[in-house]
Amino acid sequence: MELREVASGVYACLQPDRGWGWSNSGFVAGGGGLVVDTLMDVRSTRRALDLYAGVAPGAPRRLVNTHHNVDHTWGNQLLRDAEIYGHRFCAEAMTRDLPPHVLEAMRTAPDLPPGLRWFADDLSAFDFSDVEVTPPNRLVGDEGLTLDLDGRPAELIFVGPAHTGGDLVVHLPEDGVVFAGDVLFQHCTPIGWEGTTERWCEALERIASLAPVIVPGHGVPCGAEAALELSDYLRYVLDESRRFFEQEVPAEEAARRIDLGPYADWSQPERLVFNVERAYRELQGGSWDESVDTLPLFEAAVRLRRHWDEQA
Ligand SMILES: [Zn+2]
Repeated sequence: MELREVASGVYACLQPDRGWGWSNSGFVAGGGGLVVDTLMDVRSTRRALDLYAGVAPGAPRRLVNTHHNVDHTWGNQLLRDAEIYGHRFCAEAMTRDLPPHVLEAMRTAPDLPPGLRWFADDLSAFDFSDVEVTPPNRLVGDEGLTLDLDGRPAELIFVGPAHTGGDLVVHLPEDGVVFAGDVLFQHCTPIGWEGTTERWCEALERIASLAPVIVPGHGVPCGAEAALELSDYLRYVLDESRRFFEQEVPAEEAARRIDLGPYADWSQPERLVFNVERAYRELQGGSWDESVDTLPLFEAAVRLRRHWDEQA
C-alpha cells in the first residue's frame, strides 16, 4: 500500500492490482479530512487511515463512497461517526449485497467450483469476519453536491448509472484532480454491474474533460488518455458483441471470437465475458438495473482463460 500525493494536500492510497478487491482510496487534507472510499476489509482500511493520519492527524470528518461495491465500502465502519456521503442507489445496494459472513465462508472454503475459486483466491489476503456493513448517512441526489473543505471545493458529481447505479466522482477543481472510483479502471479489465455502455462512456468523457489528474478505482493515477482508452474498450466490446449478436452467436462463444488486440495485456482480460454478456443484455433491450446471475459468468470467464491458454 502506497500513499502518493497527487496535488498539494491531496493523496491517493494505492494498492497493487492483485485481482478482485484490490482497490484504491483517496484523501484530501482539508475541512477536517475527506476520505474517498474505504477498502475491502477493516484491516486494510485501518492501514490506509493510518497513512492519512500521518499527513493530517485526527479522525477524518467526511467520507465519500463513489459506489456500493464492497471493495470500496467494507471499511466504512471505522468512519461510522463521520459524515458518509453516497448516492441513494449506493446506499440501497449496500444493504442488498452479499453479507460479509457469506464472502468470508467462500474465501475460506476448501472446495469451490473453478469460477469461485478464481474469485476467492484473490481475496485470500483479506478478512471479512469483522466487517459491519455501514451505508452512507448523507444521501447525494442526481444533482450532486459541493463540499467546502476550508475554502477548497470538492464537487460530488453523479455520473451513473455507468459502472453501477450510484456512481459518484469527486472533483477538486482548484487542484486539478478527480477521484473516479470504478468509473475508471486503469490498465485493468473493467466490469460493469449496472448501467449502460453509453452512460459509462459519457461518464469517462466527462472525467477526461474535468481534470488533468485522475485517480482510478483500480490501477495508478493517470490522465485523460486512460479514461478515453477505457471508453474505446467499452465501445469496441459493444460493437463486436453486436456483430456476433446479430449472427445469433451465444455470448460466451462471442467472447472467444473477439480479438482483444491492444487490451489483451490489461489485467484479468477474461472479464471480457462479463462485458459481452452485459452488451448482449443491452442489445436485447434489457434495463440498466436488470439483475444478473453472476455465478455462471465467473465459470465462463475461467473457461475463456483456459481456452486462451490452450491456443497459446
Ligand atoms: Zn472496485
